Formats: sequence, C-alpha cells, structure tokens
Amino acid sequence: MTAADSMAQTLVERLDLDHYKRLVEGLAQFGDRQQGTERNARAVDWIEEQLRSWGYETERHHYEHEGEPRSQVYATKVGSVAHHEMYILGAHMDGRGGGQAVNDNASGTALVMEIARVLASPDIHTERSVRFALWNNEETGLNGARAYVEDRANLQGMEDPVGSGRYPEPTWMGMIQHDKVMFDRGNPVQDEQALNADVDVEYQLNSERWEESAQLAIALINANRMFATHHPAAMSNGMSNTDSTPFMDLVPAVSLRENRRLYETGNGANPHWHQTTDLFETFSDADFMLGFNAAQTTLGAVAKLGGIRIAG
Ligand SMILES: [Zn+2]
Repeated sequence: MTAADSMAQTLVERLDLDHYKRLVEGLAQFGDRQQGTERNARAVDWIEEQLRSWGYETERHHYEHEGEPRSQVYATKVGSVAHHEMYILGAHMDGRGGGQAVNDNASGTALVMEIARVLASPDIHTERSVRFALWNNEETGLNGARAYVEDRANLQGMEDPVGSGRYPEPTWMGMIQHDKVMFDRGNPVQDEQALNADVDVEYQLNSERWEESAQLAIALINANRMFATHHPAAMSNGMSNTDSTPFMDLVPAVSLRENRRLYETGNGANPHWHQTTDLFETFSDADFMLGFNAAQTTLGAVAKLGGIRIAG
C-alpha cells in the first residue's frame, strides 16, 4: 500500500456498522417518507439535526414540485486546499410504498450520513470539498436532483462574495449516487443473501462524460478491492433511473447499488421494492453488511480522490 492507501484504510476503519444500522433505523421511524407528506418533512429535519450534531453547517436547497414548495438538505466538508472543487456523495431520502422504505433508500441515505459522520472529525482534512446531498423527490422522477442541477450548475466555481474565499457551489469533480444497497439475494430470489452478492457500480455509456465516468467507476472498483471487507464490486455501463442521471452530461457520474437497475432490479431481483415489506425487520445482518461494504467502497475511493488525510 502507498501512504495514501494506508490513510484511506485508517479512515475506512472508522466507519461503524452498528451506527450505520442505527441511522437506517432512525430513518425508518418516519415510514416511507413520501415526498409532500409530513413524514417526509420531519425526516428532512431529522437528517439535518444529525448532520448538525456532528458539527456541519447544513444548507437547504428550496425548489418547487408541481407548484408546491419542497426542500432538500445538504452539508459540506470544506476542502483545505482546493475548496473550490468538490465531489458530491448523494442518496435520495424520499421513498414510497407505504412501508418504511428501508432498502429504497434509507440504506443509501444512511451510507452517505455515516461517511459524513466519519469525515466530520476535526482531525480529518480534505484537499477538495466533499458534499453530502440527501435528495428529495427521487421517486417522482429525480425532481430534487434535477432542480439542484438546474439551479446550481451555473454557480460552479464562483467565489461569492468576490474576495471572500467562499465557494457556495464548488466545481463538481464527480457525483456518486447510492440507491438501494442492501438486498442481493439473486434472481430467482432466495431466502438468504446470494453467495456472490456484490456492489454494482454503474455509469451510463450514452452520456457526454462517459469516459470520465468510467474512470470514476474504476476508482471505486479499485477502492473496493483494497478496502471493502466482505463483498466485491462489479462495474457496468447501464446506469439509469437514479439521481446521478441529471449530472451525467456535465460531470463524471456513477451509481452504487445492490443490483444493476435495468437488468436485475427491473427484472424482479427485489420483491420488497416499493412494497409495504420494505421494513427494517425485513433485512438480515448479511444485508446490512452488503450496504456497509458499499460505504467502505465509496469512502475508500473519495479518500484518495479528495486528498483526505488524518492529522498527526
Ligand atoms: Zn431508490
């Protein structure tokens, strides 16, 4: 391992499986968090409270959906060198189906939050900024992430106020989305996790930035090989139906999932998807471990891409 690898390894070891599970459970208490409902609004508040409790200054992006006001929360670990550049780690916090929307997508939301918790530690410095974005309105058609791209793409890299050294929207270096990360029981679906359960890293071949997106996916595959403890990762080029889609022509964009969205999830690999059975109690320790391996994969990759180091 290089010095950067060892640093990333130490950082990844600070992720806590039990804490990841507690965050999933915390989100589950708000039910399916369907956009436009009180339980969705309360869940956004709860996410914001957690981020603040770790020391972040949170921000809200306000937008409209079908004429009604909506908001989504994000927080940023500000870079100490290139704070005008950033990686975005995303997950949608809204759900549907009338259950607890645990796998779709408390699992990805908690993953991004657990990485945020680790990076909040005052002894951790990042060269580039890292933003934790908990998108709303994914289930209605990626509307939260789309609104963010529409409202903020043109603000990238602008110092505001001029001379302040503050960059409200650092230039996007990459967007890494997490959506449904725990359930890989094969197809036909088995009672237990599949022996070959893996983390699927997808980019979209038919996008403007596909070559750089493939490079970003390779960085995640390499990080998985080095830092994930239990499950391998596989790469493919059919990223679809996820919040990284609105970014993919502008910036390298990938998505991490339990299964490929079009060819596996779309063909029945997850019977709890958008169902009342997407509950905390539905998932085994092995399922949580698969989600945790996706967290190890992303943090390991971002540690190197973002130049993250631990002081002392
Ligand atoms: Zn989802």
